[in-house]
This record gives sequence, structure tokens and C-alpha cells, in this order.
Amino acid sequence: MIELPPYLPPMPALDDLNWTNSFARLPEAFYQRVRPIPLPDPYVVAFNPDAAALIGLDPDAGSAPGFLSGINGSRDIPGTHHLAAIYAGHQFGTWVPQLGDGRAILLGEVTNDRGERWELQLKGAGPTRFSRMGDGRAVLRSTIREYLASEAMHGLGIPTTRALTIIGSDFPVYRERTETAALLVRMAPTHVRFGSFELFAARRQHDEQRQLAEYVIANHFPHLLALPETTRFGAWYAEVVDRTARLMAQWTAVGFAHGVMNTDNMSITGLTLDYGPYGWLDAYDPGYICNHSDHTGRYAFDQQPMIGLWNCARLGEALHPLVSEDAAVAALARYRTTFEQAIGDALRAKLGLTTIEPADAALVTTLLELMQQDGADYTRTFRALSRFDPEHVASRDAFTAELRDHLAADAWLGHYTARLAREGSDPSTRHARMLRTNPKYVLRNWLAQDAIVNAETRNYDRITELWQVLRAPNDEHPAYEHFAARPPAWAAAIEVSCSS
Ligand code: AMP
Ligand code: MG
Repeated sequence: MIELPPYLPPMPALDDLNWTNSFARLPEAFYQRVRPIPLPDPYVVAFNPDAAALIGLDPDAGSAPGFLSGINGSRDIPGTHHLAAIYAGHQFGTWVPQLGDGRAILLGEVTNDRGERWELQLKGAGPTRFSRMGDGRAVLRSTIREYLASEAMHGLGIPTTRALTIIGSDFPVYRERTETAALLVRMAPTHVRFGSFELFAARRQHDEQRQLAEYVIANHFPHLLALPETTRFGAWYAEVVDRTARLMAQWTAVGFAHGVMNTDNMSITGLTLDYGPYGWLDAYDPGYICNHSDHTGRYAFDQQPMIGLWNCARLGEALHPLVSEDAAVAALARYRTTFEQAIGDALRAKLGLTTIEPADAALVTTLLELMQQDGADYTRTFRALSRFDPEHVASRDAFTAELRDHLAADAWLGHYTARLAREGSDPSTRHARMLRTNPKYVLRNWLAQDAIVNAETRNYDRITELWQVLRAPNDEHPAYEHFAARPPAWAAAIEVSCSS
């Protein structure tokens, strides 16, 4: 008798998911109900099976009938409620009383079989009440940058929104030049930002603000529900500050610059949110400004920890009186220690150290100064160091080759070797540990640009290749060795700005 394989039910399509929208049950003051304006003749540019798995969606759902029409808004998916959230924020330090989802529409949320809830948001689905002068659209270029960056960030183990799919269209959109429109489906447990609370504070809508805080705590900080109300909000704020400090350390450790750390781009759950003119360091330059529109360097790479604190302070002010001034000040006072501890741990891990010595900070600083002076590539230098073995000349040469001043590099390796010896570091276990810590691949600007240029001629292979490599950035991908190369000369001319 032929043995039949066990019956497997078909994987769920878009309409089969467990759709709800808890945000839509909040009062109308929190959002505008709005319909997406479907993009004409849409097609799938990218579909991410990893994000699909998070919501229990068929990994082939992107090519299923009804997918494009459901995402595009030309038909309703049962259980979904389209809405655009309202918020405010500090943009480049300036208070802006009215912002909101100007080109993003929340589709709904899906609960997976682990009980996790994921919001699905359509970025570029048409104008809303909050669009101001904008057209509510996103261009293909910016959706590719966000799609790849959020998946790269996740691959690096850093909290982030995720990207499910990019839908393209030949519909023209005008930025500095005529480009084509696209729609990104972004996923996050919540898209609530610091600015969501700032809005209600500025309008003195204390009841609404409290309701939003209760919503966020109940859904995303449920462990705080056990606390009495008198301390719950303060504890919640302290946790937001703590998560922000840790996120800044994680960005710093992988050489990530966000580029637009306005308070409306700061996630209340500590995720990396809103990928615009971001950049990963190539040559180590602490003053790196990735955003071409950031003329003063407010959001330079090395300013981010301080800006994270500044943003937390704005949130603390906004949460008054829900969070007392004393509680806010106490939480902010811990930011520096949390950040320094986290970045200290991260940098020691990048050097493969397992113990702590007072001189470790100086060891790290000397290396970073050397890298800066020599224009050494941040990612490549730490990756080369991950294979350093004092007994093997080739491993020493591979490291010093990343730096121009070989004598200084050798001298530093001497101190490093002595430090390793003091903790009895075993080379092979250290190498394994460091290779897991120091990625080989990051989304360098030139890689994203290459994917964009290809996509503009309808070739999406580069997106898939980069996705595949960046989701596992610490692994070797022999076919894609060139993605770990220093940037080519033409990369110097790439300019990324807020335009997206
Ligand atoms: P962002 O720079 O993407 O964080 O956006 C800042 C604000 O401008 C937010 O309120 C956005 O919703 C809005 N916005 C950005 N681009 C557009 C656009 N093309 N159409 C409408 N609103 C936009
Ligand atoms: Mg934004």
C-alpha cells in the first residue's frame, strides 16, 4: 500500500489571517479613518518570507490571487480597518504641533499562533488628513532602502520594524526628478511614537494621553500591569528611556546612523523606526552625517546617544503629570549609565574580551582613533580582528592591511595580545565568538544604491541577493564576497536626503 503523507492544510493567504485592529477601537481623536488610493497596475517588487512567517502568512502569498488587490486597497480584507494615526513631534529640534501618518495607513493587526500581535502599515498608500503638502506616496527608491535596512537591522539582532513586501507601479511621482511610486508594507507590534504623546500634551488632552499610555502599557508592556497605578507610568517611562539608551548603543556598535532622529521617528517600544537617509559607516568617522539635508550635523553618528537622551527628555516633559517630574528626572539620570554600560559591553565583545579591565576603554579608543586617522573601514576592520591569532602571521597581516599605518596597527596588536593573554583567551573559541559579534555584511549605501538602480530597470535580483545575505550578516556568503568590499569610487557621489 502506498503510504500517503500526512495531510497538510493549505498555508493561510492574506484573507485567512486573524485580523483585528485594537488601535481602531481607541477614540477617533487618535486617528483618521481613511481609504488607500490604489496604485494603478501594481506588481510585486519584493516579498519577505521571514516577515510572512511572523504572521503565519504563506511564504508564497505574494504571488497568490487577491494579494495585490488586498494590499493595494482596491478591495477590503475582512477584519481590517484602514486608519492614519495622528502625532506631533520635534523635527531637527523644532516643535511641530501637527504631524501624523501623512503617507502611511494602518491596515490592521494580525495575531500569530504565539499570541504576538503585528500591525501592518501601508507606507505610500495615498494622502491622509496629515499629508500637509505631501502626496502621500513613497518612491521605489525609498521603499527599497527601508525594506533592506529593516531586514538588515533584524539580521544584526537590533530591535526594528520589519518589512513584508514592496508593491511597485509605473505611476509617476515627482521628487527632485520624476520617479515611480511604490508601497511598502511595514510591520511592528505598534507604530506609536514619542510624538504621539507629545501631541496630546501640547493640546492639553490629558485624558486621551492617559488612554494612549494605558493602551501601550496593556499591549506592549504587560509586565507593568502588576504595578500600582501610582508607580506604573513612571516605571513605563523609565523602561522606554532604558530601551532607547540600549538601542543607541546597538546602533553605535554596528556603525549605524539613523539620520532623522526627530521625536516622531522614535518608537515608544524602542524599535528602530523610519528608515530614510540612514547610513552604515564605511570608513570610521565618528562625525559621519548620513543625511544630506542635515546641514548642522545634529544627527551625526556620534551625536545619536545624546539626541536619544534629548528625545527622551521631550517625552518626559510631555508625559507630565502622568509621570512626575521626579520620576522623569530619575529615569533620565540613568540614561548615561545604561548607555555607557551597553556600549562598553558591546565594544568589549567586538574585541572578543570576556573579562573587564579598567584599561579596556583605552584599548578600544586607541583602535578607534587609529581607524579614524587611517580611514579604516569599520565593519571590515573588526571582522579581520575576529580572526586574529598572535601565532599566525597571516591573520596579523589581514588585520593590519585594513589600516594604513602598519607600525601603529602592530603596536596596538601587541597591547591587544597581552590583554588576551591576561584572560587566557583561547583563539578558536574567541574567533567563533567574535565572528558571531562582528558582522561581515552591512547595508552599505552603495549596495542599496546598486539594488535601486537595478530595480529601476525592473531587475529585482539584487534586492533578493542582499536580503539573503543581510538576514545572516555574520555568516560567510562566498558567492557574495563583493558585498563586503570597501565602497567603489562612485559611492562617494551618493547623496541621501529626507526626500523619499
Ligand atoms: P518622515 O520624514 O517620513 O518621518 O515624515 C515626516 C512627516 O511628513 C510625517 O508626518 C509624514 O507622514 C509626512 N510625510 C513625509 N513624506 C510625505 C509624503 N510624501 N506625503 C505626505 N506626507 C508625508
Ligand atoms: Mg517619520
